Amino acid sequence: MQLSRLVKVSRQVAGTRSRLQKIAFLSECLRAAAPEEIKLIVDYLTGALPQGRVGLGPAILRDLAGCEAVADAQLSLQEVDNVLQRIAETRGKGSQQARREQLGMLLSRATASEQDFLIRLILGELRQGALEGVLIEAIADAAGVPAREVRRAAMLAGATSVADAALREGPAGLSRFRLEPMSPVKPMLAQPAKDMDGAMLALGDAILEYKLDGARVQIHKVNREVRIFSRRLNDVTESLPEIVAAALTLPARSLILDGEVIALRRDGRPHPFQFTMRRFGRKSAVADMSKTLPLSVFLFDCLYRDGDVLIDLPTGERWSNLVRAAYPELLVSRTEASDTHTANAFLAKALAEGHEGVMAKSITSPYAAGNRGAEWLKVKQTHTLDLVVLAAEWGSGRRQGWLSNLHLGARDARDGSYVMLGKTFKGLTDKMLEWQTRRLLQLEIGREQHVVHVRPELVVEIAVNEIQSSSQYPAGMALRFARVKQYRRDKRPTDADTIDVVRALYRRQTGVEPAAGG
Ligand code: AMP
Repeated sequence: MQLSRLVKVSRQVAGTRSRLQKIAFLSECLRAAAPEEIKLIVDYLTGALPQGRVGLGPAILRDLAGCEAVADAQLSLQEVDNVLQRIAETRGKGSQQARREQLGMLLSRATASEQDFLIRLILGELRQGALEGVLIEAIADAAGVPAREVRRAAMLAGATSVADAALREGPAGLSRFRLEPMSPVKPMLAQPAKDMDGAMLALGDAILEYKLDGARVQIHKVNREVRIFSRRLNDVTESLPEIVAAALTLPARSLILDGEVIALRRDGRPHPFQFTMRRFGRKSAVADMSKTLPLSVFLFDCLYRDGDVLIDLPTGERWSNLVRAAYPELLVSRTEASDTHTANAFLAKALAEGHEGVMAKSITSPYAAGNRGAEWLKVKQTHTLDLVVLAAEWGSGRRQGWLSNLHLGARDARDGSYVMLGKTFKGLTDKMLEWQTRRLLQLEIGREQHVVHVRPELVVEIAVNEIQSSSQYPAGMALRFARVKQYRRDKRPTDADTIDVVRALYRRQTGVEPAAGG
């Protein structure tokens, strides 16, 4: 298939509001595909690259965006995929330049609309989960199989593999995607919640479990055979002999269990995440390492037990199955709560025991494989930092005319400079917006497009869930889920938290030093 055809379909789909029309466009495109093109077409339509990332940053892509285009379409999908594969495999010294040249050559053979499509595809801007629903129906239509079956199979294995199987083999191909032990399924994922009160408000009654900062495992057992899969569905059985041994002690004939493995210290408190990762997926010296750094498993779900598929049952019933299948010491710490007081007490206990936070789960939801929905909410500890406002961006929409998004920095005690750590406009009330716009304009020292730079004088208290590593910001760290709590008019910028405080927080969370960013 020509790239131009796919670009056209993508535009047609985006250009119509009618669901039926969208399905018709997609179905027609899928029917026209050669069997070996199906996976690529589904990936591109949903905005995904089969290579994942190809190592081209936004700066290079934006730079190449203006290059000269051809008038007549000539690129095939296969050619595009071949070039992107080569780019992804380009490594070593000078690779950045080599990747840039290869993409430049590809773009110089594309039409303007193809260039736009390719650049947005590589940037990840075309990614659209919302399309998956219509795509499922289009696959069903094109393959002549019931949408219900395609949807169920896609939940277990993803739309790309399912489209390939359905269109090549019809119903017989789909039957391969049944939930059965020894074929891994995509794990159910969680959305972040702002805090415990927010999670309880969203869920009402909820199941609360410790959120352990280890590695996800899906344990499959049939008689005396055990296979363990990672979150990305890689087989990690070999690196986890003690977990295999634990699974073999369970009396059930067949099981699929979901849980987390984690390295614990002698006193039962968790080691930092990096310790677990020293073991996870490792193939050498496994026997020695399993003695010096043993892993524990904590189970929180049961998807299959002795021939029964459980994923459509509510969380509570799956837990009952888990309790029947496993021993209490293998189960994650858990409670049920219907009020924020109990829930916050449980969170405080999890944190006091050194864990990352709490998972709040809907009592009634089925196991939505592969889904990052609102049925599972992760609640992590919040920290507050007093940071200095370095600049602010003019708001848009409802916040038009107000300085809104704040650029936040921590003080570097060595030279008195400020190091930017991130931006936020969350948590600002109308009153605060009004006040800060007035105050920041008084402190203005320069402008750049929509950014107003200011003298670093205002101190603001910011809540964050996490300090994450970042290649974008100069300290190699960035704030995650930052929100404004209040302005600290009582504090001077020299009273603000220093970059060393932020580094210490990062170290505490990750167990490693932040890499200096660039
Ligand atoms: P995150 O990686 O921050 O998106 O958080 C989701 C991950 O938390 C899951 O993929 C699991 O690996 C991990 N996790 C830890 N404890 C639990 C739990 N009790 N229930 C579900 N996931 C958990």
